[in-house]
Amino acid sequence: MVLSEAVLADPVELTRALCDIPSVSRDEAAICDAVEAALKRLGHLTVERVGNTLVARTDLGRDRRVMLAGHLDTVPVNGNFPTRTEGDVMWGLGTSDMKSGTALALWIAATVERPRFDLSFAFYDCEEIEAVHNGLNKLSQSRPELLAADFAILLEPTYGLVEAGCQGTMRVRVTTRGKRAHSARSWKGENAIHRLGPVLERLNSYEAREVEVDGCVYREGLNAVFIGGGVAGNVIPDEGWVDVNYRFAPDRDEAAAEAHVREVFAGFEVEVSDTAPSCRPGLDRPEAAEFVAAAGGEFRAKLGWTDVARFATLGIPAVNFGPGDPNLAHKQDERVEIPRIRDCAAALRAYVEAS
Ligand SMILES: [Zn+2]
Repeated sequence: MVLSEAVLADPVELTRALCDIPSVSRDEAAICDAVEAALKRLGHLTVERVGNTLVARTDLGRDRRVMLAGHLDTVPVNGNFPTRTEGDVMWGLGTSDMKSGTALALWIAATVERPRFDLSFAFYDCEEIEAVHNGLNKLSQSRPELLAADFAILLEPTYGLVEAGCQGTMRVRVTTRGKRAHSARSWKGENAIHRLGPVLERLNSYEAREVEVDGCVYREGLNAVFIGGGVAGNVIPDEGWVDVNYRFAPDRDEAAAEAHVREVFAGFEVEVSDTAPSCRPGLDRPEAAEFVAAAGGEFRAKLGWTDVARFATLGIPAVNFGPGDPNLAHKQDERVEIPRIRDCAAALRAYVEAS
């Protein structure tokens, strides 16, 4: 599959072309080959490939560098491949999540030879499966210098709104202990499940913070997501546990989030089982503020977790911005509105070209 010059010159055609190359996670070699060949043909970019992840960069000696990033993979096909277009709507796998966004990064790479910032582009594999396979995650560990930038735009679907930063997420297990006994002589035991009562009370009465960071309001949450315990129908249980998920605003890093959870459950055994960092919106940075302005001036906090946090771990503020509707991601009737692709393309272009 060759991405012709005409296709590279049009963000809508490019979206269609990328969507029509199958690239379910772990099967990205063909699309990566096509994008790599297109980038190398351009001549004004240095291109590095690591596995099925590509990083392309301008090297114009500008004082600032902005990263545009998008994943190449999709979730499995569900009777929605290849694309079809009806009027102003392109239907098909990847149209929203996120080849319409990835296409914009590639289109900027292909058509803006002398941007006002140095630009880096990352096209990566395996975003839709476990984090250990995620191309951006792997690169942030093995070759962080390739991702260096002052600001990053991840072109995930946001329906054309700037969604800044992202909340972090942490899962902890709160465990209670007791003493087993026959339930016919329960006074000889200590019921660990009953001891979960105060844990649930603390969750019930917990008042989640609303935190403003750089003008974005993040609403936190601390919630039980699993509960367990028990030995048999006639045994007083000696162990009970609640798994709690904490979604935390980007004014807290993982250490601060853990300290907070330990404080909430003071007196109980708390073990962190899983954690992913938050990402500051960074809208106080000029390159970010200028991007918000170019995208129409509106922005909101990203409440979910996205790969922008990979940039955060490298100290790079990042926003999400893409033409797709996030509510259509992973759905059989995934689609993208063509005018929205054009609007987002115009905003990005104005941003990287403005004098
Ligand atoms: Zn995505």
